[in-house]
Amino acid sequence: MSENTTPKAVVIGSGPAGYTAAIYLGRANIPHILLEGSQPGGQLTITTEVENYPAFPEGIDGPELMMKMRAQAERFGTEIRSEVATEVQFGDHSHTVITAQGSYTVPVVIISTGSTAKWLGLPDEEAFMGKGLSACATCDGFFFRDQEIAVVGGGDTALEEATYLTNFASKVTLIHRRDELRGSKIMQQRALEHEKIDVAWNSVIDKYVPDENGNLKSVLLKDTQDGSTRELEVTGCFIAIGHTPNTQFLAGQLDMDQNGYLVTNPNRTATKIPGVFACGDVQDPFYRQAVTSAGTGCAAAIEAERWLTEEGL
Ligand code: NDP
Repeated sequence: MSENTTPKAVVIGSGPAGYTAAIYLGRANIPHILLEGSQPGGQLTITTEVENYPAFPEGIDGPELMMKMRAQAERFGTEIRSEVATEVQFGDHSHTVITAQGSYTVPVVIISTGSTAKWLGLPDEEAFMGKGLSACATCDGFFFRDQEIAVVGGGDTALEEATYLTNFASKVTLIHRRDELRGSKIMQQRALEHEKIDVAWNSVIDKYVPDENGNLKSVLLKDTQDGSTRELEVTGCFIAIGHTPNTQFLAGQLDMDQNGYLVTNPNRTATKIPGVFACGDVQDPFYRQAVTSAGTGCAAAIEAERWLTEEGL
């Protein structure tokens, strides 16, 4: 987008959905701005190898995949700003996206703000962040070389993180609240067959236990069947229990489901407000894959383009 061009669209978010929407807007000659948000590149920047994104038969690192998407968007004129949307004032064919740095008034807003990792919600959880507690194996795994650690969760994220963390840790205990894992069969097999991985079935963390410096020393596990407790000595604990959609800044303005995911028109990315579209994890509690996010990002841009044409904008 050249300096004197007035943007017609703002894409909020820089994950696969946001970048794909931007690529399609660019190729449709629709001047637009993409706001990167607080986690540029989105969740894939804190994941390890992505093995299921088509066209990468050997797999690709999440951050590298996102750099490629960013470069592709820039090639087609996307203007990327390091800003976080804090509010959107929706109007009739004109919406104002507000950030700490300024505001943008445009006819089209594409919301692709993704979702954020959940925490257990134990009372002293925050005190342990950076002191043994993490939600990002790629970011923090390195700090736990030759130590015993735990991963909480039974989905693909937990299985992937547990397997990845065996590169550093001497032992990884997967803590799962049921006796059956939710993750895909191949990831289950990889984790369960790993010599460094143990599973604490039917278990939840009741308490984080600090050492004299406030660093994590162990976790108190509670058996979900009989209520009994036991201490598991771990210096690191990675929480991998799913995500919350990043829609708080839109509360009360757009339709959301009970978990805060944006609700769009059936089989479409259009929201109830004309010119406002939602794509990626923020409107998808079901698939939540990079490739499906990219797919709905494409859909949002195509719908936006058609809407602009229909409205003569
Ligand atoms: P999921 O929602 O799939 O799994 C969350 C896990 O955390 C479940 O096992 C759940 O237990 C457990 N859990 C939830 N809340 C709590 C709690 N309060 N206390 C204890 N345990 C809890 O989330 P994921 O992040 O694992 O995966 C999300 C999506 O991303 C999935 O579709 C997954 O397939 C995909 N994904 C794919 C990857 C890949 O293919 N490379 C890698 C990572 C994710 P319960 O089972 O009892 O509900």
